[in-house]
Amino acid sequence: MLDVCLLGTGGMMPLPGRWLSSVLVRFQGRLLLLDCGEGTQISQKAVGWGFKALGAICLSHYHADHVAGLPGMLLMVGNSGRTEPLTIFGPPGLGRVVAGLRTIAPELPYSVSCVEPAPGQVVECQGLQLSALPLDHALPCLAYALEAPRARPFLPERAQALSVPVQLWSRLQRGEAVEWAGRRVAPDEVLGPPRPGLRLVYATDTRPTPELPAFVGGADLFVCEATYGDPADMPKAVERKHMTFAEAAHLARAGQARQVWLTHFSPALEEPQRYLDQAQAIFPNTVLGYDHLQTSLRFAQT
Ligand SMILES: [Zn+2]
Ligand SMILES: [Zn+2]
Repeated sequence: MLDVCLLGTGGMMPLPGRWLSSVLVRFQGRLLLLDCGEGTQISQKAVGWGFKALGAICLSHYHADHVAGLPGMLLMVGNSGRTEPLTIFGPPGLGRVVAGLRTIAPELPYSVSCVEPAPGQVVECQGLQLSALPLDHALPCLAYALEAPRARPFLPERAQALSVPVQLWSRLQRGEAVEWAGRRVAPDEVLGPPRPGLRLVYATDTRPTPELPAFVGGADLFVCEATYGDPADMPKAVERKHMTFAEAAHLARAGQARQVWLTHFSPALEEPQRYLDQAQAIFPNTVLGYDHLQTSLRFAQT
């Protein structure tokens, strides 16, 4: 099960009732944060998932509305009693940005490392498999995909047929070979075919790119920027390297997502619900993001 919560849904500046875009992810008791604008720690506090388990922060890019909350967040995680290391991911320039922001948060009770993921690289992170895709924005910017892997099914009838003692079954389930009384059984002999995991994709801020649909890759949940609702704002979207609701919906459809949550609304967009119908006409499973919208993604029953 992968828990996902929008901590904010705004772009540019935090507003009363609308924090800046960021997503909190919980998997097997561990936390991962996507973007950290001003005030993100306040919104996270309200959700109640805590701070101590936060082991990774993925930054899409270095505009202030996505990173200015980092020093306070790092201090908050320290105050929560964390001593285990924390990793920050981001596009090129990450070390300089983090060092600059940390001049006001130099002393932390845990170590911080910076990783710039290369396109196509898969990194193990908080029990998840993280990958990144360069986007098309005014600054270098990354989309992130997080996959929760699923174990292959254990087939007890095969283990029984091979006379494997029951006390060795759990090791086979974990993918280890077992030996007893001069016999050896490999996991492949008692495990079924691989099963798809859960996929969460986060993309902000960007224009649509040719590579994005494949990166969305049938995601169980796609969290996508939709800065402008009114189609008349398309020239602004092009100029400022953002998207309209319709463009986000087209991307979700092309990427065969199960559902898309729209986020990163322009401060001028006071009533995003006015434009939801237009997006749903393109991709019916479009959901208007709001602060603290959450879901639990579950493995399919197979
Ligand atoms: Zn932004
Ligand atoms: Zn930006």
